[in-house]
Amino acid sequence: MRHGGLVLDAGMKLGALRLGLRLLRSPPLILMYHGVTRSARPDGLRNLDGKHMPQDIFASHLRLLAKYRRVVPLQTLVDGLGTGEDMRDWVAITFDDGYENNASVAAPLLADFNMSAAFFLTTGFIGTDRCMWTDRLEWVLDLTQRTELKLPGGGGQLSIVSLEDKSRALARLKTLIKGNRTWRPEEIVDVVADQLGVSASPAGSDYRFMDWDQARSLAQGGFEVGAHTVTHPILAHLSPEAARAEIFDSRDAVWREVGQCSPTFCYPNGKSSDFNAEIQALCHQEFRSALSTERGHAALQDLWGLKRLCPAGPGKGENLEWLLLRAR
Ligand SMILES: [Zn+2]
Repeated sequence: MRHGGLVLDAGMKLGALRLGLRLLRSPPLILMYHGVTRSARPDGLRNLDGKHMPQDIFASHLRLLAKYRRVVPLQTLVDGLGTGEDMRDWVAITFDDGYENNASVAAPLLADFNMSAAFFLTTGFIGTDRCMWTDRLEWVLDLTQRTELKLPGGGGQLSIVSLEDKSRALARLKTLIKGNRTWRPEEIVDVVADQLGVSASPAGSDYRFMDWDQARSLAQGGFEVGAHTVTHPILAHLSPEAARAEIFDSRDAVWREVGQCSPTFCYPNGKSSDFNAEIQALCHQEFRSALSTERGHAALQDLWGLKRLCPAGPGKGENLEWLLLRAR
């Protein structure tokens, strides 16, 4: 009885959310994904944060959007801002970084639903075996047999016995490394890997980046392909010259290899403190708008730091209804 009651409650809640979606209009929204995985569940620490969404949940998102919202190309949405056009219920889909599963798993699903999306590439990783330092850190912590981690920079010791410990340590390390302007993240991860006795490089399809053939196929399939820097640094931490090179070299690489590049730029990490007025002015030279990772709906006043909603992550993936409703 108790079990039946719970099922009924969940069903009623879902029904109410869907009724809400039918009745209540949303402002224009840009959704941010990173990956769509063939794996149904995380493997240890790997993808425990839900960065790569299981493909059946992603398909359920597309079904929901097809039924209750209007998915438009990112540029259609950006160009519509400030025109006075009725953009209620418009949704654009974006993918950051350029993971291989964007091309092999997400794009075919999007095509099944005849939906557009924009893919922003970290061009220095495309077609290489390199992986993001954050992914390597996840891999190292997942594999290590050690039970304690000495934080870099003399930040004390952390227990890394249980999965929860490791998850906390990973979050702590990421915050520590991102917050230090003088460290080179890859070098700090080398030090951590050494300390934890893990020498191998990450393996596994969800850590892999797409290659340029796949990027070209996305463009040929009608998807938008754009620039997300060369090496994914926090741009506000760089010298103006280095920031310029990261932005323009990634744009040039996309143009050269794909034959087109989105007029929207996508800031790595993307919090408002990660791109300043100088970075925005640089982008202004070559782009028409830029995407942040700040949470909210798309608005003209944020053209150089457009807000987005992230429907991926622990516990978030199955509740796009709620995310869309709260964005009003
Ligand atoms: Zn990114």
